[in-house]
Amino acid sequence: MHSQPYRTLIEPFRIKSVEPIRLSTPEEREVWLEQAGFNLFALHAEQVIIDLLTDSGTGAMSAEQWAALQRGDESYAGSPSFHRFEQAVKDLFPFKHVIPTHQGRAAEKILMSAIGGPGKVIPNNTHFDTTRANIEHTGARAVDLPGRQAMDPRSSHPFKGDMDIDALAAILREEGQSVPAVFVTVTNNSGGGQPVSLENLRRVRGLCDEHGIPLFLDGCRFAENAWFIRKREEGQQDRSVTEIVREMGSLADGMTMSAKKDGLANIGGWLAMNDDDLAADCKRMLILTEGFPTYGGLAGRDLEAIAQGLTEVVQHDYLRYRVRSAEYLGEALLAAGVPIVQPAGGHAVYLDARELLPHIPPLSYPGQALAIELYREGGVRGCEIGTVMFGLQPDGKEAPASQELVRLAIPRRVYTQSHVDYVAEVVQRVANRATEMRGYRIVDSPPVLRHFTARFAPL
Ligand SMILES: *Cc1c(COP(=O)(O)O)cnc(C)c1O
Repeated sequence: MHSQPYRTLIEPFRIKSVEPIRLSTPEEREVWLEQAGFNLFALHAEQVIIDLLTDSGTGAMSAEQWAALQRGDESYAGSPSFHRFEQAVKDLFPFKHVIPTHQGRAAEKILMSAIGGPGKVIPNNTHFDTTRANIEHTGARAVDLPGRQAMDPRSSHPFKGDMDIDALAAILREEGQSVPAVFVTVTNNSGGGQPVSLENLRRVRGLCDEHGIPLFLDGCRFAENAWFIRKREEGQQDRSVTEIVREMGSLADGMTMSAKKDGLANIGGWLAMNDDDLAADCKRMLILTEGFPTYGGLAGRDLEAIAQGLTEVVQHDYLRYRVRSAEYLGEALLAAGVPIVQPAGGHAVYLDARELLPHIPPLSYPGQALAIELYREGGVRGCEIGTVMFGLQPDGKEAPASQELVRLAIPRRVYTQSHVDYVAEVVQRVANRATEMRGYRIVDSPPVLRHFTARFAPL
């Protein structure tokens, strides 16, 4: 590992453009919470002091990315910005077809409309919420196969994102005919931002080969995953992240991607694959829903920002700082006795609301209660990943989710160490009054992806 004589790992950038944070009082926040129906998605962003709702599209672009915007070519067909984008993707993931989309879920929607449908089964280590929703929308079944190591929030297994190989083997043996593709999400966002090892990917690949089934990566955080492989997997320490990413890509037949994560861009995504027929199907759908295949729902300037972002996201100084930011927050919270999913994820720290609030039952939404309290206390906005997000079943009934988490996702290159110190203090103060906290009930809820728009009332 890189030797580092200093305890302080500095942000490897200078700031040359700033955005003021509007500070608010607890009384103001109380009013705003009521107006938002206690759903943090319904707040106005100026009402938030530190916004850790998501790391998606919330990063700061570099000076080189802003410069690249100027080069954006807005030709409807054949833009050179597309060719730069395509080349930047292929430098890391040499898939034959690269199809730009406006964000990750558009790639999912297009792919699932081509390969999904009633009777189909699509396994993943853990499906992200939009992936699951897009699969279920076609009538197919989305199956999560996280490894056993992922179930214990206290275990600091190095690759808690790994897929359960035995469970995958069983599904492919019993229902292989119905499986149009196997997915692996790197890092496993819904499973705590935990990485997947190369060894696990190779074994998934082996099983897919035995059954002649294509393997797709949900590659949203491919660079963070590769950094963890370099740090934690035996024999990987001397490789560059770029090499590791290429190997991850070489084990798959295609990928979906949100460039709002490790594309270091504010918008964008892509769908990539080697299969010519599938690509032709997907491009037909792309033209219906996104745009012509050389821009696919993006402006030429967006394609430029992504192309440049992909050269920056694999830099070791960036990734060391990036992964350290979440680890640093995780260490501060553990030291304060706050239960978190260990180890910290690549992009986020996940608070364990079930452990912190054992007196609030799952159907009174302990994660939601904790997320609301962090906002009330310090204007910190996190995201419930628990029964609000995953508890609504396709048949309309409710069931407790497997975990009750609050994700504090760290936007890329946006906050400094003192912002993170503040967040740790806010969480600690809330944890100190955990026994006084009460649950919530849902007073209004849509039939799918309810966490975005449901309204709540305190119990
Ligand atoms: C964000 C995300 C998506 C969806 O991407 P969007 O750009 O938000 O549509 C899919 N999978 C994972 C793992 C994600 O984190």
